[in-house]
Amino acid sequence: FIEAEKNDAIPSSNGKILLATVKGDVHDIGKNIVGVVLQCNNFEVVDLGVMVSATSILEAARREGVDVIGLSGLITPSLEEMVFVASELERNGFRVPLLIGGATTSRTHTAVRIGPRYGSPVVHVLDASRAVGVASKLLKPETRTAYARTIAEEYEGIRREREGRATEGRLTSLRQAQDNRFVYDGAPLSAPTPSFLGTKVFDEYPLSELVTHIDWTPFFQSWEMRGRYPEILEDAEAGPAARDLLTDAQSLLARIVNEGSLTARAVVGFFPANSVGDDIEIYRDARRGAPVAIVHTLRQQMIRGPDRTNFALADFVAPRETAELDYIGMFAVTTGIGVDAMVDGFTARHDDYSAIMVKALADRLAEAFAEHLHQRVRREFWGYAPDERLTNDELIREQYQGIRPAPGYPACPDHTEKATVFRLLDATNTIGVSLTEHFAMSPAASVSGYYIWHPASRYFGVGRIGRDQVEDYARRKGMDVTAVERWLAPNLAYER
Ligand code: SAH
Repeated sequence: FIEAEKNDAIPSSNGKILLATVKGDVHDIGKNIVGVVLQCNNFEVVDLGVMVSATSILEAARREGVDVIGLSGLITPSLEEMVFVASELERNGFRVPLLIGGATTSRTHTAVRIGPRYGSPVVHVLDASRAVGVASKLLKPETRTAYARTIAEEYEGIRREREGRATEGRLTSLRQAQDNRFVYDGAPLSAPTPSFLGTKVFDEYPLSELVTHIDWTPFFQSWEMRGRYPEILEDAEAGPAARDLLTDAQSLLARIVNEGSLTARAVVGFFPANSVGDDIEIYRDARRGAPVAIVHTLRQQMIRGPDRTNFALADFVAPRETAELDYIGMFAVTTGIGVDAMVDGFTARHDDYSAIMVKALADRLAEAFAEHLHQRVRREFWGYAPDERLTNDELIREQYQGIRPAPGYPACPDHTEKATVFRLLDATNTIGVSLTEHFAMSPAASVSGYYIWHPASRYFGVGRIGRDQVEDYARRKGMDVTAVERWLAPNLAYER
């Protein structure tokens, strides 16, 4: 209908927009929603898909003669990639405005890091609903200049404000933070022994067992509806749309489960381990000896009050010098096998809505799988909480013993550490999940991380770290300082 109307009533398009998820990143739900919204508003969209290199973006932009380029990404390494694309656009003499969007992007990052690399307007787009307004203002001759000036001034203000904020760099030294590490001082505990060591693979895990574990709040977020489930269903404004969306989701979910259109696979591993400083050493067996792998953890360096410690995940694993053998678990799950085929089917029938819905549901199933498997780990596989009985709500609120921190998240923000998880689990061979050059998991509907059993273990954010820790971490990982700075760019407390 929209297409037909376009031909008759509206003579030409509002403009041509290139969209791409940047190199190394596979997440595109937000980008695809933006694409649909733009098309519905009479913009022509050239969607290059995911994992698109700067070269391909520049080539397509030139070939298609686009009016705007929109970059999308979810994981933190994409922030650096966007900086690179901006500088490539500048170097190659491009003049088209650049839009930046995606979960980890921000107005501040856009203003401070991306904007200065490119002489033409660079605008952060908070969510899909803003894309049309921003694109229109950037392209309409009567608003273009004034809007570009407004954005330039606003972003200049953000840059100036940041320069003025000298206190932000205030950190404790790595040495002092280590002295203030978390030390468990409860009654002595001995580590529970897992029911197996090494890995266990789950092929074709029943989807019906995962559905009940779905946390629906992030589902609505993926459709850019803010609010908590189930309250959102009764919301005066968003309620009707939320209820429709959930009904559609549940009917597609029922179809996926009945027809087995997606395959769920997982691999779980348990390994003897001890902490050594801020590292977690992993051993072949209980005799320990030389580590077969090392998990490198990062430590908080914010200045702490008297009773607060500077956490690193290594603090929750028994130190090697205590002679107490401990264990660490690792997992990788996917429910993304089959997504592409379903998406292709829907796309062929011009059903963009269902194509996006499949991806949103697959992501939910992956998280549900991680939750469900973690419970089995506590009750059976590691078995330190055999009698745990929690409702799904309590599971979602993580009211259980132990954590499953995921590399790339705040307690362990270094995505490159996934390489160790994937190597020890042989995840690419066992469950068909691979890592991109920027350590995103492909298929996108995948989750991986560590299991830590310790009753005192908890999630935290590493936050900003100093040059001293970056240098120490680079040495421990055998990486260049500049490489570490690139991977941990959002966590640096100093200017590179
Ligand atoms: N129920 C939510 C859970 C996803 S976010 C959902 O269905 O989407 C929570 C997950 O991210 C946790 O299970 C854990 O694996 C990881 N996580 C959360 N906070 C973290 C932190 N601070 N550091 C490391 N990993 C974290």
